Amino acid sequence: VTELDDLTTRMREFTQARDWVRFHDLKSLTLALTGEVGEVAELVQWLPVGVVPDGELWQRLGDELADVLLYLVRLADVAGVDLGQAALAKLARNEERFPAGTYRSVAPERR
Ligand SMILES: [Mg+2]
Repeated sequence: VTELDDLTTRMREFTQARDWVRFHDLKSLTLALTGEVGEVAELVQWLPVGVVPDGELWQRLGDELADVLLYLVRLADVAGVDLGQAALAKLARNEERFPAGTYRSVAPERR
């Protein structure tokens, strides 16, 4: 997936230019990713169900989702995982596991 490859390369260059590679072990990146997911949760935790934020909150949500994606891309790179290929393979397995004809409008865990 070209866009993910580009992000991976940009994040690798960003990290190398700052001599931060030595800080980017799997544990530290996983904790950083988790922290960013927490920042997303903090923004939406008290929104009524079904409400999509707008204005400044929407902008901040985009920033935090970007942080999540950038750390995820970096974590996959350090782990040697081709994130685009892994995601496509997982989606294909989920499509087989949860056929639309069987699972339409039914939460998987309720079957
Ligand atoms: Mg953040």
